Amino acid sequence: MTVAAVAPRTPAAVAGLARGDRIVAVNGHRLRDAIDFQFHTGDERLELTVERDGVTAVKRLRRRGPGLGLELAPPRPGDIATCANKCVFCFIHQLPKGMRKSLYVKDDDFRLSFLHGNYITLSDLDGASFERIIEQRLSPLYISVHATDPELRHALLGRPRHSAEILPRLERLAKAGIRMHAQIVLCPDLNDGAHLERTVVELAPLHPHVATTAIVPVGLTRHRERLPSLRSLTADEARALVATAEHWQRRWLAELGSRFVFLADEIYLLAGLPLPPEAAYEGFPIAEDGIGLVRQFEDGFGRLVTRRHVVTRQRTVARQKRDAGGNVLTVVTGEMFAPRLGTLLAEAGFDPATIRVAAVPNDFFGPAIGVAGLLTGRDIQRHLARQADLGRAVLVPAVAVRDADGIFLDDLTPADLARDLGVPVKVVQATPGALLKAIRDS
Ligand code: SF4
Repeated sequence: MTVAAVAPRTPAAVAGLARGDRIVAVNGHRLRDAIDFQFHTGDERLELTVERDGVTAVKRLRRRGPGLGLELAPPRPGDIATCANKCVFCFIHQLPKGMRKSLYVKDDDFRLSFLHGNYITLSDLDGASFERIIEQRLSPLYISVHATDPELRHALLGRPRHSAEILPRLERLAKAGIRMHAQIVLCPDLNDGAHLERTVVELAPLHPHVATTAIVPVGLTRHRERLPSLRSLTADEARALVATAEHWQRRWLAELGSRFVFLADEIYLLAGLPLPPEAAYEGFPIAEDGIGLVRQFEDGFGRLVTRRHVVTRQRTVARQKRDAGGNVLTVVTGEMFAPRLGTLLAEAGFDPATIRVAAVPNDFFGPAIGVAGLLTGRDIQRHLARQADLGRAVLVPAVAVRDADGIFLDDLTPADLARDLGVPVKVVQATPGALLKAIRDS
């Protein structure tokens, strides 16, 4: 494992570790990956075998808290286990050619599932990997189930060479005490209706080991040449699904003590229905998968717009009105969340004429993709260039910009956008506090 960074005045810094060092063993155990590192560094006293410039040395560390103060470099694409599937809905197959290579990596790696919450199919998981998951208690894992009917699942995965039944695999992990979060990518006419019911009914007996089942709508881009024909969920179907899911949730809350099945935020937005209350998300265990993020945002926003913020907001609005040359601020988001965001801001007293929500259509991926996280820099640029007055700044959602390198999906940067549009562009985290602060400070 290569050290990417060492924080000052931490056990790692005191022991003399530095960026670029290769840690090859901990307390005599050779490391295969970051999981082995985590697994073997739980003790208080540690001996790290470290290579630097071809010289091997032992560094002794004494743990004084949860962290050692070092960050490991992420795995290189060649070290990541990839899938042999050709899922009919795979988003990577729907990417146009010519994007940067890292976007085409079809990872199906239990280590990334444990470390980062990536979904895996378990299709190619060999016996040694099963044993390692169980031995090192790599829990929770995030599992792409899609359907429990073996033939249907095999078809959804694009008929890979191995036809791995999912239920026996989930049962094996459940028996070993591994906690899992299941996901179903819902494809109308394929795994919906009776198939969906069978899937959730067959997963429920595995609760609490299968802690949750998330149902997310299939995302279809305009780049689906030579791929199976699929269609998106309609608004009517989304409304019917919400009603069905509420029925299931009532049943399982009574039987299992958990609602067990959760729908993606996109389904409620598509249905034009309010999202369930906070309590219905049972602690938001799969918010990262888009299950409850909108509820968290709306509730957090409501809580923050307290008396103190009302005063701040009034001052902001007053300042905007005084400042005749720059009384407008543009807040960028995807078409799906834009109406909700506009309503939230208006209810909080912000003047829609000054704090303008720009609902940017996704021309790059097509009209079926309405989330902010898949907006490209050029779509934002094109849409905003047509607006009469962008005001004193443009706020873009951080989810559209990759954290590590600060670029949009199409390699444009916020600085490129600012230069093209002639206004400052600020990247804002998708939290109510960050948005209110950016509005106040811009
Ligand atoms: S498992 Fe399916 S959806 Fe995931 S990367 Fe592989 S082909 Fe794509």
